[in-house]
Amino acid sequence: MDLYSGHINKLIDELAALPGIGNKSAQRLAFHLINMPQDKVTRLANSILEAKANVRYCKECYTLTDREICPVCANPNRNHRLIMVVENTRDLAAYEKTNKYEGVYHVLHGAISPMLGIGPGDIRLKELIERLKGDVEEVIIATNSSLEGETTAMYISKLIKPAGVKVTRIASGVPVGGDLENIDEVTLLRALEGRTEM
Ligand code: ZN
Repeated sequence: MDLYSGHINKLIDELAALPGIGNKSAQRLAFHLINMPQDKVTRLANSILEAKANVRYCKECYTLTDREICPVCANPNRNHRLIMVVENTRDLAAYEKTNKYEGVYHVLHGAISPMLGIGPGDIRLKELIERLKGDVEEVIIATNSSLEGETTAMYISKLIKPAGVKVTRIASGVPVGGDLENIDEVTLLRALEGRTEM
């Protein structure tokens, strides 16, 4: 039985398909959107379309950016021989907020998860190996401390150690299963400073 109009149902379905939004939240958002003034709705819709059309992957670290090379990779004052591997752009942003990390990043866009059928070929690992052909001193693996994050860290370590590059893992001060973006800056810095060789 359709309680709402077909258009509202469609909107609710689209919103409910977003991560972290259940059916109840989707309904609340849908009605909120419909009651918003037209100009605000247009602005929101346009910002989604513009972001989708203009955001791309940095050619070096694969973070999401508006430019060909992101501001971190383009900065000559950063240490380009130090690469921190993170799962996503939000984790990169979390470390950038500390203002203390001087190296560059590599964004995997995911983590290995046999359960979800995500293998090494599904994240930006090939691209990382390609970067190691350059002058790299240390790779800091800062994937989350979830099962997927740990699996990915082990995999990367085994993969790149034979290349003679120093591989370190951030300290386990980061709570298990915790998303890096939700962790405060002090904890992040402590995890970075306490990193150990794998
Ligand atoms: Zn970059």
